[in-house]
Amino acid sequence: GLVLGLESSCDETAAAVLRADGTVLAEAVLSQLADHAPFGGVVPEIAARAHLAHLPALVARVLAEAGTTPAGLSAVAATSGPGLIGGLIVGASFGKGIAAARDIPFIAVNHLEAHALSPRLPSVSPEGLPFPYLLLLLSGGHCQCVAVEGVGQHRRLGSTLDDAVGEAFDKSAKLLGLPWPGGPHLERLAVGGDPARFPLPRPLLGRPGCDFSFSGLKTAVAQQVAKGLDEAGRRHLAASFQEAVAATLADRARHALAMLPAATALVVAGGVAANGAVRAALAEVARKAGLPLVAPPIRLCTDNAVMVAWAGIERLRLGLSDPLDHAPRPRWPLDSLAA
Ligand code: ATP
Ligand code: MG
Ligand code: FE
Repeated sequence: GLVLGLESSCDETAAAVLRADGTVLAEAVLSQLADHAPFGGVVPEIAARAHLAHLPALVARVLAEAGTTPAGLSAVAATSGPGLIGGLIVGASFGKGIAAARDIPFIAVNHLEAHALSPRLPSVSPEGLPFPYLLLLLSGGHCQCVAVEGVGQHRRLGSTLDDAVGEAFDKSAKLLGLPWPGGPHLERLAVGGDPARFPLPRPLLGRPGCDFSFSGLKTAVAQQVAKGLDEAGRRHLAASFQEAVAATLADRARHALAMLPAATALVVAGGVAANGAVRAALAEVARKAGLPLVAPPIRLCTDNAVMVAWAGIERLRLGLSDPLDHAPRPRWPLDSLAA
């Protein structure tokens, strides 16, 4: 059978069709970046309306690309939290409608679990990826260290005390005069900059546990900007910021691995996993621990529906599905998922 996945928790409208063995037959992501950019951030009401406007055509497109129709589906998986409630309601309701009409199972997918299980996609780990593994989820909305011990079995080992790491990138990029979302712009600006030029703080470095904190780093960037910077100075500051983030993440990952001695791999997901300096620092931590670093390709690291369909497949394999009156949840912590 075929599984349809839907994602609408934030500012990406996405749909995908997977075979039950995890083979991706069709996938599409529609970014709403341009809709939100004038406001410098995601506007929930605009996001909900855009999901509603685009989802029907997007689903029709992936079904056609997969060479199927709703009658060919054997299940529908839709992100049902955490996220912006308007968008969640749009995507989950759309999915439930198809499930009800075809009388097939509906799976209410936790967005964080979808990120957490994405490295087990056959295309990412062809040899399989056994539990438990350590997941660093590094995005604009989330920053946490998770012991992924099974489907529905996740232990949060640490999370950010203030900003998410992507948020820290975006805020620092804004201070440097870069467009939103600034993470990728900041990485480009940092090329050729001297990462040792500005001694920025490395929050929580060496502290026990694996919580994160980034607001002090952002403040330090603001203070340097306020002193005035020439073009070379901006490059050095971007490089110094990136270096401080990478060093902090590496330190936190080392601590987290010590908290999960049975880990089979270090996995990184979320948009910030696109960052070269971050990847390099984490690859070094994994190498020293004798573990593989698994980083799904960028299109599967950022928000997408392939990972949602895959999480649905993992749940279906365990006989899990959800009632059609399952209510989307704006807050839905990973460690509350026990099957
Ligand atoms: P959610 O947490 O719900 O997934 P999101 O939409 O913010 O929310 P993603 O789409 O996974 O998450 O990631 C976007 C974030 O990743 C932004 O903060 C963006 O700046 C950051 N990002 C993307 N590419 C890079 C990069 N090359 N370097 C640093 N940060 C990056
Ligand atoms: Mg996004
Ligand atoms: Fe996400």
